[in-house]
Amino acid sequence: MIEDANRLAYLNAMEIDVWRERGAQHTGDAPDVPEETLSEAADIPLLDWEQLRQRVATCRSCDLHQTRTQTVFGVGKPDADWMIIGEAPGQQEDRRGEPFVGRAGQLLDQMLLAVGLDRQSVFIANVLKCRPPNNRDPAKNEAEACRHYLERQIELINPRIVLAVGRIAAQLLLASDAPLGRLRGSQHFLKDGTLPLVVTYHPAYLLRSPSQKGKAWQDLRLAQRIANEQES
Ligand code: URA
Repeated sequence: MIEDANRLAYLNAMEIDVWRERGAQHTGDAPDVPEETLSEAADIPLLDWEQLRQRVATCRSCDLHQTRTQTVFGVGKPDADWMIIGEAPGQQEDRRGEPFVGRAGQLLDQMLLAVGLDRQSVFIANVLKCRPPNNRDPAKNEAEACRHYLERQIELINPRIVLAVGRIAAQLLLASDAPLGRLRGSQHFLKDGTLPLVVTYHPAYLLRSPSQKGKAWQDLRLAQRIANEQES
């Protein structure tokens, strides 16, 4: 956890005024996941962390394995209290094998630091472990083929809170078509209502629309309150 004094500096870096109160659907109707993929997924709920990492690294459950450089399993603490879930690796993530690198990743780091967290103390993953070509939105069958990996990651990490970043991740995780503006600002649940989830803006969007950073800050505070409540 970072010191309070430092937090202000990070909030400043995010260009957020701390003291002011401020208030679709996916593309790709690709075919359903083939039967053999579903049977291959059957033992995923039994895999341990390293087995899961290996399985993801060699996954060929959808066509994205043909175009990826490597899979992006995720980064951070395997028993983190916070799990951050984005959409899918982009070009830089595909090259580096790590989620959220580049400018959006740097802003995500600053957002986390603002609530006393860093990359090593949370776990950061994506709904998809492989990069969709040209950064297109994940197709339904890709998200479905990858779902078992994310579910097992969530199971093994057993976080106190999930922070879904961006509309696509939020809609896929919550199986909702609602716009991000309606999904953020309140508490949702995964795992049959036992795991709280908060939605916030994608850092890439915040880079384009910095005026929304105040709302992202509210989302982070909400997630922080919920995570702290889980502690007591
Ligand atoms: N956007 C995401 O949603 N995830 C990444 O890893 C990078 C960019």
